[in-house]
Amino acid sequence: MNAIHKIKVAELGSGGGFGGGRGPSRVMDIMYNLTDRYGPRLTNSPQFRAAEQWAAGQLKEWGLSNVQLEKWSSDMPGWQCTYFAGSMVEPTYQPLIGMPVAWTGGTNGAVTGEAILAEIQTPADMDKFHGKLNGKIVLTSPALELPFPTTPLAHRYTDAELASLVPEIIPTGGGRGGRGGFVASQPQMTVQERQAFQGRMRTYMKDEGVLLTLTATTRGESGTLFGGGAQTSTRNPDGSSTPVPLATLESSLPQVSLTAEHYNRIARLLEHNVPVKLQFDIKTQFDPNTDSFNVIAEIPGAARKDELVMVGGHFDSWHYGTGATDNGAGSAVSMEVMRILKSLDLKMDRTVRMALWSGEEQGLLGSRAYVKAHFADPAVMKTTAEHDRLSGYFNIDNGTGRIRGVYLQGNEMMRPVFEAWFAALKDMTEGVVTIRNTGGTDHQSFDAVGLPGFQFIQDPMDYETRSHHSNMDVYDRIQQADLEQMAVIEAAFVYNAATRPDKLPRKELPAPQPAGGRGGRGGY
Ligand SMILES: [Zn+2]
Repeated sequence: MNAIHKIKVAELGSGGGFGGGRGPSRVMDIMYNLTDRYGPRLTNSPQFRAAEQWAAGQLKEWGLSNVQLEKWSSDMPGWQCTYFAGSMVEPTYQPLIGMPVAWTGGTNGAVTGEAILAEIQTPADMDKFHGKLNGKIVLTSPALELPFPTTPLAHRYTDAELASLVPEIIPTGGGRGGRGGFVASQPQMTVQERQAFQGRMRTYMKDEGVLLTLTATTRGESGTLFGGGAQTSTRNPDGSSTPVPLATLESSLPQVSLTAEHYNRIARLLEHNVPVKLQFDIKTQFDPNTDSFNVIAEIPGAARKDELVMVGGHFDSWHYGTGATDNGAGSAVSMEVMRILKSLDLKMDRTVRMALWSGEEQGLLGSRAYVKAHFADPAVMKTTAEHDRLSGYFNIDNGTGRIRGVYLQGNEMMRPVFEAWFAALKDMTEGVVTIRNTGGTDHQSFDAVGLPGFQFIQDPMDYETRSHHSNMDVYDRIQQADLEQMAVIEAAFVYNAATRPDKLPRKELPAPQPAGGRGGRGGY
């Protein structure tokens, strides 16, 4: 209790209350550097590499041990957008809110072309538009139906919502539902037909002489836009992947994500047979260096210094905003946890190791590579000595919302442990403990090889509606008091895990997953 009191005072000061920039917390200074100064942090981009250098330097300045950028081999070249301008020029001028999708090409100077709606979902659609797309700017779907938003843009969990997370006895698998977004109806095709279609689609638009393609989603209304990145590798049936050649990526067609209302104006004009001319000037840059790095830092333990407690989150972001809520928040809190624990010089039995992952947004790639190198390859599930010595891993990656509890990830043995830890933090959180799993982030890499890995329950805030993977994922969406609360709770959890007599209880080692387990869809 004395150590937890010290952690609270180190983060919040002795005056009580959160936020307002009056306390000793440094978490918003860290956030400024991760976002305004060095963001966004698309994996392997120049800004990502600069941000990692800054983080490593800061961690060293705080006196942390074994600070290093630990390499793993990715297949992602560096990419950045160095210029974007987009506008409608006919029938009238209108600047467009948009940004290029990651790892897509540029326009090689300003281009002007007629907009055309070409929804291509079948080989027959390809034939229908053959020869009609040369020099055109293609809208890939009709105008989107934008439902009237009747729910608040941002909210915290109510008592009833928190309670509804709890009563399940048996894990339901999966995580959150209802991600929203535009889903095109997929026509029926056999696997072979679909593969052949997708193969042709990879070059179809370019071969037809299209200038660029435009997309939008219903999530991206009210001036926001949401997006992701082009595939930098193709997945093989055996679970391995083949990188797309750099020259292919560099010469790929520009793809632009637009805010929904601007997209819809263009689409409706076309539906009314009013010709629309658009102008775009897009410059993107590639860097052939595919080496990627996780940021590592430690506080050495004492009596059981060979044993480990890990804390972290992913450091990479998308490039549309500056990567504040996803996942500057989890990165800044992890760094703040290490800063507090180091500055207090608390005597901890186990070594505390922080890891800030790269490649999360492309499928938890950095943490999966780390777990494979250090603990176990899920394909064969043969464990290392380090696997035996890891007590547990704590992750934050659900935005800026404060901690309301923790997901047990099906490990009901942890319930009394977490309940006891939360009891000492009742002034800061209800500490809801749910048997449920949550998905889509780096604790899963640990869970996949039978190691205790946990993600906290965080208030939803405006994550799904506004900031997650959008151009409005910026510093201003961060709530300082929430970050400070997270830093105290996570530091207390790490301290408790590092000092309790036993390692955290584990589930059974899973069976080997020869095809590499989960598919390589994007991270959360
Ligand atoms: Zn994330």
